Amino acid sequence: MPDDFTRPGSADDMFELARRVHDILGLLGESPERPGLQDTPMRVAKSLQSLTQGYGADPRRLIESALFPEAHRGMVTVKEIEFYSLCEHHMLPFFGRAHVAYLPAGQIVGLSKIARLVEVFARRLQVQERMTTQICDVLTEVLRPRGVAVVVEARHLCMMMRGVQNQHATTLTTAVSGAFTESDVYSEFLRLLGR
Ligand SMILES: [Zn+2]
Repeated sequence: MPDDFTRPGSADDMFELARRVHDILGLLGESPERPGLQDTPMRVAKSLQSLTQGYGADPRRLIESALFPEAHRGMVTVKEIEFYSLCEHHMLPFFGRAHVAYLPAGQIVGLSKIARLVEVFARRLQVQERMTTQICDVLTEVLRPRGVAVVVEARHLCMMMRGVQNQHATTLTTAVSGAFTESDVYSEFLRLLGR
């Protein structure tokens, strides 16, 4: 994880988290003191903090920090951005790929920031639908392009491991703004994605 993620009060939070994970292990019928589990509460606490680091980052400032004036007007597409997130209903992982496109209007954004933007929103408790919209909204508002399109495809462990056990289902979500609401522009985006 890049170090510009910051979280206030991390050390205290971490020990408190570990203490509660210790309690959860007991409530599940485990013996938290047995050798295999002794270090588990702290490991889980660290892992949870890392998986929710997106709360410590400002997505708008991230995009603002890498805007460049540029006359290019063609579609800019970054596809296959890998991400890992946690569903807010079960705190189980959902993971997959995001594809993001925009049509510049006088400025472009550093390409790596688009992948980082996906990560900032993925590293929070999420639902895939909201994450997709948040990525689209921030790019639309801060980059002010002629339009933005975001497609997210993901598999949800809460769906695969429990309940319906629908192991092969993939969930697709989309969000568009501006010119991408026109079907020919959106079709061009899908063509670039190889759909
Ligand atoms: Zn879930």
